Amino acid sequence: MKALTFSGIGTIHYEEIPDPAILDDSDVIVQTQHCAVCGSDLHVFHGREVGIDPHTAMGHEFTGEVVETGKKVSRFRPGDKVVSPFTTACGSCFYCLQGLSARCIHNQIYGWVQSGAGLQGAQAEYVRVPLADSTLINYEEYDLSSELALLGGDVFSTGYFGASLAEVKKGGSVVVIGCGPVGLMAVFSALLLGAGKVLAVDTIDRRLRLAGKMGAIALEAGNSLREAVHDYTGGRGADAVIEAVGSASAQSLAFELVRPGGIIATIGVHTVDHFTFTPADVYNKNITYKSGRCPARSLMPTTLPLIEANGPILSEIITHRMSLKEGVRAYEIFDQKRDGCIKVILHTEG
Ligand SMILES: [Zn+2]
Ligand SMILES: [Zn+2]
Repeated sequence: MKALTFSGIGTIHYEEIPDPAILDDSDVIVQTQHCAVCGSDLHVFHGREVGIDPHTAMGHEFTGEVVETGKKVSRFRPGDKVVSPFTTACGSCFYCLQGLSARCIHNQIYGWVQSGAGLQGAQAEYVRVPLADSTLINYEEYDLSSELALLGGDVFSTGYFGASLAEVKKGGSVVVIGCGPVGLMAVFSALLLGAGKVLAVDTIDRRLRLAGKMGAIALEAGNSLREAVHDYTGGRGADAVIEAVGSASAQSLAFELVRPGGIIATIGVHTVDHFTFTPADVYNKNITYKSGRCPARSLMPTTLPLIEANGPILSEIITHRMSLKEGVRAYEIFDQKRDGCIKVILHTEG
């Protein structure tokens, strides 16, 4: 089959790799309909996350059609249209039962094969899905297109998770730092959860315009940002800051913009070693810092209906639709934020 593979830092290839096969009775094979390039794929692409074997298929966001099932799979059969969260989940361990599927003791993330072990990615014509009964969801149970269902597997669920971590209060103020796909979904989710004021921060006009259309106050990152947040929050700072970038500068900005007693919710994938603020800074401002990988599978029964109810505005984040074959160019466009790119979705041929 064809796939987009990691072929060294800064290099993605569209190449032939072996078709996946059923390895365990709980596996299914899915023929991909849509897959997407995600901000966290760029960590691998740029070498900020290392260890992945060359020629591993990239990607963890996809929808598709079940084409083959292992002997113990009972909930799916060939022809079912499915969406997957970006990590697999057993559905019955301590963490799955707590709603923290991201920390399932059997979880694997798509697109990470290291020293020969792990799971191939979804930017490919076919994907092997382990623990299929407890991982996949049949998106035809909802009124969702394949593209919209895909947003539930990661970006919408992750944005919603950020707003949940931020404990958005009715009428409260929330700053969202970074209005990429996940940040925009966090903006929308914070408003859904009743925030009175969502201040959306980015440098790119198209993203800010979309945040504004969703109901946020768009603020350009820059010198006057601190003053503006100050003015909008009664001089205190925001009740919560959702940090959706994952950089040291975004982290230190979050600390500056949150009010004493507020919450910093970090959903950007961090790849740096140290906090930009100290334990004493946290003590002196009574800050709560929350972070972690989104338990997408646990959240999808909540988030898929929300996507279903808000499809038109949410689909506006999809600025680029290309084919898997054009994936190398899709990475370039997405990485360099060319042509006002927010989210690229790739379709497979045939
Ligand atoms: Zn993703
Ligand atoms: Zn589990």
